[in-house]
Amino acid sequence: MMCSQCGKDHADDLGELAFRRPDALFALSAEEREHKVRESNDWCVIAGERFFLRALLPLAVAQMNDSYCIGIWVELQPSDFERVCELWRDEGQAGEPPFAVRLANSIANLPETLGLEGLLQLSGPTSRPSVTLSASSHPLAVEQANGISLHRAHEYSVIFA
Ligand SMILES: [Zn+2]
Repeated sequence: MMCSQCGKDHADDLGELAFRRPDALFALSAEEREHKVRESNDWCVIAGERFFLRALLPLAVAQMNDSYCIGIWVELQPSDFERVCELWRDEGQAGEPPFAVRLANSIANLPETLGLEGLLQLSGPTSRPSVTLSASSHPLAVEQANGISLHRAHEYSVIFA
């Protein structure tokens, strides 16, 4: 499918924009990270007091059936993290009401995204939860609410290239 903005075919080159860990982790020294952090590719706890989950932030793309998803970390309340742990293998976890969260990564080339508020919805034991940003004038919230062009999805996929 040809991009109406630049004439290229982006459909097959939409690489994933994904963050490996929450930004807060990279502020720690190697020693602190070793002693204070428990982490996996799905969750991260710093000093037993800050709790993070990896989520997907979907952006609907015009002309495409699938959304473009940014792999991003969110920070949530300790009690909510505990609840997520309880539900980790629960087939019915999608029925759980969403949790209030904040984005835990800065996305390059956008106004600051760290700390943006949203809601986290669990989806299932083998799929990542999704985050929906609270309505605001932030460009990312506007793009999530309105959807993006295929060309814009491609820009996200190369934003760190
Ligand atoms: Zn294009």
